[in-house]
Amino acid sequence: MAITLEIGRDNPNAQTIAASSAAPKAPAEDKPTLIGLDREELAAAMGTIGVPEKQRRMRAAQLWHWLYVRGVSDFSLMTNIAKDLRAQLAEAFSIARPEIVDEQISVDGTRKWLFRFPPRGAGRPVEIETVYIPEEGRGTLCVSSQVGCTLTCTFCHTGTQKLVRNLTSEEILSQILIARDRLGDFPDASTPQGAIVPSEGRLVTNIVMMGMGEPLYNFENVKKALLIASDGDGLSLSKRRITLSTSGVVPEIFRTGEEIGCMLAISLHAVRDEDRDILVPINKKWPLKDLLEACRNYPGLSNAKRITFEYVMLKDINDSNKDALELVRLLKGIPAKINLIPFNPWPGSQYGCSDWERIEEFADIVNRAGYASPIRTPRGRDIFAACGQLKSASERMRKKDRDALAG
Ligand code: SAH
Ligand code: SF4
Repeated sequence: MAITLEIGRDNPNAQTIAASSAAPKAPAEDKPTLIGLDREELAAAMGTIGVPEKQRRMRAAQLWHWLYVRGVSDFSLMTNIAKDLRAQLAEAFSIARPEIVDEQISVDGTRKWLFRFPPRGAGRPVEIETVYIPEEGRGTLCVSSQVGCTLTCTFCHTGTQKLVRNLTSEEILSQILIARDRLGDFPDASTPQGAIVPSEGRLVTNIVMMGMGEPLYNFENVKKALLIASDGDGLSLSKRRITLSTSGVVPEIFRTGEEIGCMLAISLHAVRDEDRDILVPINKKWPLKDLLEACRNYPGLSNAKRITFEYVMLKDINDSNKDALELVRLLKGIPAKINLIPFNPWPGSQYGCSDWERIEEFADIVNRAGYASPIRTPRGRDIFAACGQLKSASERMRKKDRDALAG
């Protein structure tokens, strides 16, 4: 059944599309998936259906190409694999996309999808949100790593939703695949087999692990998905265009650089422990000193590979000139960029967004100290796709609340 959020209905320009009739349905049977397996696992899966050992690597490479270069989600389209084998694969495995419950398009072109994943084991189906943000010369996909979050940052809507479960590597990767399907970002079927597919002109150029959840509390699955996303024979997204954002899970930060090698963003938001303890409660476990030490040791850190520090601008909470000066002092010696995020309100939130002049003055201080300090333009607010506004459908907003916010 199609469920629409109907948020866009209040805004004549925003579109809400009940996408489920057009979208591929979740697989009826519970077959093991081939999406999200690394090459060795894919080769081993071939073994389980009787592919001889010396052919397994070659078959895995063929599948890799179909799954990640061509974006195929139907075995019958894999034309260089013998029909019998295709039938065997279809019998034993799934490569289906998750169900699209809803798709909304903001007046500014931002898209938000609500995806439903089938139950894992005895659990229930889960729903998560993924956001696409088109900009001049690039397109960023904001990917979720968990359903809900165990952390309770006081300014974040996701933080009010208890953790339901970690997403699997398949589910993390599927967000990229299905977004590219919907955007028409995979090469079309007429592209000759084996052709090099150019990376220019793509719609999804950047990935940010900034959707729902704390990616470093789901390290192994996030790592697996991002290594597949950056594989040069597959989706081929450059690691410089993949950014993982963490609220500060200090013990996993070094491994992120060593084992994933992506760009790092830190949700800083406060410059004193007593303030950060409230805004980002994980700070009580790993305070600023430990967090910044981990940042200084981030593998590959240089002026060409800076850490992004995210700082949400909360009126009268963390936005004074004194805070800006302390921020500059704290980050001394760390190649950094500071991303100032105007606070995005949600129903029941206890904070307000700093005034625009305040944000600009704050940015100037940081900028004069030599740091790039872009102010992030809120995107997709009309469809509740902006930072910190994501939350599962199970706890979706009531219309009354949305109207109050739309004000
Ligand atoms: N859990 C990770 C990644 C997801 S949150 C993390 O905390 O880093 C992605 C970014 O959105 C974080 O910087 C987060 O602090 C910010 N954010 C959360 N709620 C927000 C809100 N209401 N307004 C603006 N930014 C918000
Ligand atoms: Fe979780 Fe990040 Fe939100 Fe904090 S800001 S509650 S870590 S999603």
